[in-house]
Amino acid sequence: MSAAQPPSPDPGPLVEGPADPEHDPTASWALEPGYVEALTRRVVSSTGETKRAESPIHGAPLGQVPQSSTGDVEQAFARARTAQVAWARTSLDERAAVLLRLHDLILERQDEILDLICWESGKARKHAFDEPLHVALTARYYARTAHQHLGRDRRGGVVPVLTRVDVNRVPKGVVGIISPWNYPFTMALCDGLAALLAGNAVVVKPDAQTMLTALLGAQLLEEAGFPADLWQVVAGAGRELGPAIIAGSDYVCFTGSTATGKVIAAQCAERLIGCSLELGGKNPFLVLRDADLERAAEGAVRAAFSNAGQLCVSAERFYVADQVHDRFVERFVARTEAMTLGATLDWGNDMGSLISADQLRTVMAHIEDAVDRGARVLTGGRHRPDLGPYYVEPTILEGVTPEMACFGAETFGPVVSLYRFHDEAEAVQRANDGQYGLNASIYSQDGARARRLATQVRCGTVNVNEAFAATFASIAAPMGGMRQSGVGRRQGSEGVHRFTETQSVATQRGVRLAPQLGLSDAAYARVMTTNLKILKKLGRA
Ligand code: NAD
Repeated sequence: MSAAQPPSPDPGPLVEGPADPEHDPTASWALEPGYVEALTRRVVSSTGETKRAESPIHGAPLGQVPQSSTGDVEQAFARARTAQVAWARTSLDERAAVLLRLHDLILERQDEILDLICWESGKARKHAFDEPLHVALTARYYARTAHQHLGRDRRGGVVPVLTRVDVNRVPKGVVGIISPWNYPFTMALCDGLAALLAGNAVVVKPDAQTMLTALLGAQLLEEAGFPADLWQVVAGAGRELGPAIIAGSDYVCFTGSTATGKVIAAQCAERLIGCSLELGGKNPFLVLRDADLERAAEGAVRAAFSNAGQLCVSAERFYVADQVHDRFVERFVARTEAMTLGATLDWGNDMGSLISADQLRTVMAHIEDAVDRGARVLTGGRHRPDLGPYYVEPTILEGVTPEMACFGAETFGPVVSLYRFHDEAEAVQRANDGQYGLNASIYSQDGARARRLATQVRCGTVNVNEAFAATFASIAAPMGGMRQSGVGRRQGSEGVHRFTETQSVATQRGVRLAPQLGLSDAAYARVMTTNLKILKKLGRA
């Protein structure tokens, strides 16, 4: 592993010495105050309170973010509700056109987006790139498939020809989105794009650690042509604002931890509103005996260390066939040790920083607990304050046993465990261990065999010969978790239909669905019984 050289090519106006621009005239903000102010004035806030945003890159101060009260949340919903009424009257083509403009805008403003993501999250630029990429893919997909998912749908009626059935997709109204810090641009935006396309308004509460990135997303939505009030942003602690968000929403879309997901689900149940929950994982990565080992080792590095492992679909459990175990491990360790480490804004790093002191504590606790109980560190394992306050080396462990914290609990950091397996039935059984079921990867040169095995793995997405991106970036395919990893799906038709109510409109022509022409009830029942038999014989559904 080598530290990125030079450590920071152009980190911007970084603060030397005391880093408190509010009280120290020699200190400065890492971002232009005017730029930050243009973003933060979008927060619905009347409290006069602000919260300091700081970068995990050297702890540089970024700006002050206004905080919302529960009254501000109510205000945000009121504005969104008014905007939604007008928006629901626009045509699908108009909405799709705005999404396509957003697609272009995101690609044009990519550098600005990547800079802000890196400043706020500390992730490597190449991992930040996944975010505008994912939002652009999502915008294009939903724009191009709008009519397919949301157009009026004709279905078969009870009396062939004489009963016409139309199914309409009606927007839910105002969708509340609560999003996490790990992919702050795409997690704050991508679900909402489908909600807007379906005719809804959105109130989003991004994580407090990554407000500025989410606010840039809101700014780009407006620049693309979405009406200003259609997308409201509130800021504050989830526990405080969460109940007001759920009280105002017609549907809630949550991405975050399983523990918080359960709290949200209970509150939504009280109001009898729907929710989708995209939650945690402890994702397995299977290397079968016929895997291309170079390819598997390359995929393993991405699966394990993208965004320093702070990725819901990243792999933390590696199961390797006996026959290839040592050869795979040698390659995986070598590739990990060749990674360029650093917390800077440039493209040179293979892995950036963790986001916070909290994450650092959890990750180091998992490593130390495993080592204390007898696990071996094949590479990594150290906190690297020389690279950034929250930097931890990419770490591969072996000899991890069930009593160690990192065996079953999500680390959400750059720490993975290696295990051997003897046959594929055992591999599947161990992949299915534990409470989660988000994502799995299977490496084999026999694609058909890997796909057969995938059907036995209890995860919402399975990537064959790829780490996670094949499913994540295939927007036509639903994405989400089984078991404790979630409820509902984003992406595909499932990802937009969740934001609609179906409305069935049946138009009856000719015959009535009741006795007529003097038929008694008993005669009507006989006629209908004969009809049913005939329709079955004709093969009708
Ligand atoms: P978290 O649950 O603590 O926070 C997520 C969001 O919920 C934040 O905006 C937070 O402010 C808010 N929140 C917290 N408590 C709340 C409450 N009581 N009511 C309402 N809102 C509340 O999650 P985290 O630890 O910040 O994020 C990491 C977790 O998210 C990991 O477990 C990861 O696997 C998961 N995640 C899942 C996906 C997915 O698509 N499945 C994607 C990204 C992250």
